Amino acid sequence: MMPRSVRHPAWCDVSDADWSDWRWQLRRRVRDLATLETLIAVTDEERRGITGRVGTFPFAATPYYLSLFEGPDCPVRRQAIPHADELLTTPWDLDDPLGEDPHSPVPNLVHRYPDRALLYVTHNCAVYCRHCTRARKVGDARTAPSRAMFEAAYDYLRRTPAIKDVLVSGGDPLSLSDDRLVEIIAALRAIPHIEIIRLCTRNPVTLPQRITPALLEALRPYHPLFVSTHFNHPRECTPEAAQALNLLADAGFSVGNQMVLLRGINDDEPTVTELGRWLLRNRCRPYYMFQCDPVGGTAHLRTAVQTGVDILDRMRGRVSGLAIPQLAVDLPGGGGKITLVPDRLVKLDGKRRVYRDAFGGTFDYVDAPLDDS
Ligand code: SF4
Repeated sequence: MMPRSVRHPAWCDVSDADWSDWRWQLRRRVRDLATLETLIAVTDEERRGITGRVGTFPFAATPYYLSLFEGPDCPVRRQAIPHADELLTTPWDLDDPLGEDPHSPVPNLVHRYPDRALLYVTHNCAVYCRHCTRARKVGDARTAPSRAMFEAAYDYLRRTPAIKDVLVSGGDPLSLSDDRLVEIIAALRAIPHIEIIRLCTRNPVTLPQRITPALLEALRPYHPLFVSTHFNHPRECTPEAAQALNLLADAGFSVGNQMVLLRGINDDEPTVTELGRWLLRNRCRPYYMFQCDPVGGTAHLRTAVQTGVDILDRMRGRVSGLAIPQLAVDLPGGGGKITLVPDRLVKLDGKRRVYRDAFGGTFDYVDAPLDDS
């Protein structure tokens, strides 16, 4: 039996079998204001946010994820429920911040880096994260790829031997049935030059019940398979989520986390450290800490770039390096990721470099390799 975190009172009487069934969770997702009003005290700002986003970017929350909500400032609730601030616009907002559409040689396939491609396999997600980079597409059934589109994408991949690594994304690929997901992974694995397949899924966070032994067994023949997941806050670190991560690791998946820095949600060092340590204990490597992309509707969630640099600066030297993610900015317009690090150089004096450590001490390093003339 899967361990349980707290449940909202509305679902206290649901049997453990139903609660642990990912299809039950998906069917019972809360997707409209009227239902939400029966479950939590919706604020005026949330009401305006939900109403204002109808027809542009929907909201949805599984009973499991919604059960983690606390008051209006709750870091889980703020990721899932639209806020009136989503209706604010800035001159820097973009629909397609990563320039994916201009880098799509065939529909639903993005080829932005020489050796990698991203395949958009579904528009569905268990929860629609308010900071989603692909808010222009996800949640919109019109963007669901057809069989013919899949065939065109496979054909492009077969014709492009430079691509070694395919990210299976969306939407959340684990929204698909086991059979359909395996069909896609098998088609990719049949292409000889594809070495690595990555499943980009937030289900360990929003619907950990989806990580079933049956799914893992069905995917086992197609390793090496990687999972990129997306925990943002320790409040998401429940017994169910821990079990999902450990099941993935036991089944041979290499699991990494890509968090997004979000203002007032996780933009402080203690939160990032606590999250990193929990992930490591559960065999998931903190991989990236992303600057929030300038997608329309996220201005209120974006931090200053320096915030992430300062967080890393406080972590480096105090926290195990394994728990420290790389800070990345995905350059708007399709420039790709750059990583940023805190500058520890205090002074450059000929061959003498003076660096500061994590605690403010300074130390010399003489940069004089023997063959340096
Ligand atoms: S799960 Fe991923 S694709 Fe889906 S809404 Fe969240 S960030 Fe976007």
